[in-house]
Amino acid sequence: MLNIQGIHKSFGSLQVINNLSFEVKEGEFVAIIGPSGSGKSTLFQLIGGISTLDGGAILLDEEDIQLKRGTIGYMPQQPCLLPWRTILENVTIVEELQQQPHIEQAQAWLEKVGLAQFENAYPNALSGGMQQRVSFIRAIVSDKPILCLDEPFSALDEFTRLEMQAWLLSIWEQHRKSILFVTHNIEEALFLADRILVLTKRPATIKEEMIVPFERPRSEGIRHSAKFYA
Ligand code: ADP
Ligand code: MG
Repeated sequence: MLNIQGIHKSFGSLQVINNLSFEVKEGEFVAIIGPSGSGKSTLFQLIGGISTLDGGAILLDEEDIQLKRGTIGYMPQQPCLLPWRTILENVTIVEELQQQPHIEQAQAWLEKVGLAQFENAYPNALSGGMQQRVSFIRAIVSDKPILCLDEPFSALDEFTRLEMQAWLLSIWEQHRKSILFVTHNIEEALFLADRILVLTKRPATIKEEMIVPFERPRSEGIRHSAKFYA
């Protein structure tokens, strides 16, 4: 479904991605790991359509991804919330979401992650971990078939991270989205992913591909008890 074909990306003389190729099937849950500076965020910016390729192609169902912008829910590594907009406005920033059912859905998600009382607050009133959860909700609220999450839970405390992981897994189980995520947490990669791609240090190529060798723990037990605190 998502086909990365021999892509290249440089910043000036710095070659960050060199001839990188891989595929993600529909409904697959893929973790991307690799050292800092190996090009993980650059790769997601290319898939998310906010940066342009120097070579190669990114295809979604055999069409150039640039023509299918609306299909990717992209969560950047930094939350990038607009400081002059409220939290609720930030998560419903795109025009298609500024209608009642979407706004209600966004409010429900904010409540689910313990941020209901902050929906009319501005980003600077929130901690880094809270802003990261807002950014996560902004990526998932528009219900795109593909999610690219760049270190989605890195700023969270251990309890909140476990809850968010369980919740992401339950979203994946219910909606069978294709999910790609970057993490530095190997346990998180093993817990969530079907497959783990390891990027080498610059220029990024796939060094190794691991199929997670065991049955993933199911989230049923945790799904209903997950509770979030701001
Ligand atoms: P990772 O997410 O794996 O830590 P990045 O994709 O953020 O790595 O960065 C890969 C390399 O590209 C780094 O050396 C970084 O400094 C460089 N880089 C990333 N974005 C830019 C940019 N906009 N301009 C110049 N260099 C960049
Ligand atoms: Mg990064």
